[in-house]
Amino acid sequence: MDGGKLIIFSAPSGSGKTTIVRYLLEQQELNLAFSVSATSRPRRGKEKNKEHYYFMTVSEFKKHIKNEDFLEWEEVYRDNFYGTLKSEVERLWAECKNVIFDIDVAGGLRIKKKFPKETLAVFVKPPSVDELKIRLKKRSTESDDKINMRIAKASVELATAPQFDEIIKNYDLDTALEEAHSLVADFVGVAKAD
Ligand code: 5GP
Repeated sequence: MDGGKLIIFSAPSGSGKTTIVRYLLEQQELNLAFSVSATSRPRRGKEKNKEHYYFMTVSEFKKHIKNEDFLEWEEVYRDNFYGTLKSEVERLWAECKNVIFDIDVAGGLRIKKKFPKETLAVFVKPPSVDELKIRLKKRSTESDDKINMRIAKASVELATAPQFDEIIKNYDLDTALEEAHSLVADFVGVAKAD
């Protein structure tokens, strides 16, 4: 198993894609490593620098943009920049890993365009925008304003789903995990373990 593949999970915030990505990372046979993004947004809860994100200031982020250090970047919310550092993917490819991304829709499609053959781009669809709202409120890590901002963006993002290679409906988590596992196993060319 040589690695070298890119697996993208994109979805509106609160769709459950992070849970799916975490689950896939536990499946050793898939040989996955998580692409840690850079961001200028403040740290939430128990998030750790270099593990969940490379946390940096807006001006540090802009310096990286100027240096063309990013494979893709996006101002996902106002002054909240997110981006994939080229060095991150190079580092994980050098370790012969398949790289898995938890990134926004625009960033995901941009990577797919840059590496069409090496990339599997998966869109995770929530049951409904109302359900998204409930999930984000339950998470309660953010203010109502921020939650509303994420909801507004979700409707736009849902319209991009057909541009992805695959769509997973996350109506029931176990089913979604199973489906995600099969898709990725097929793509990286391994038989499913169980
Ligand atoms: P959160 O603030 O909830 O961690 O992430 C907000 C959104 O930014 C999510 O949709 C997340 O997937 C996306 N995101 C995280 N990292 C990146 C990245 O490197 N590039 C892009 N374009 N989006 C990202």
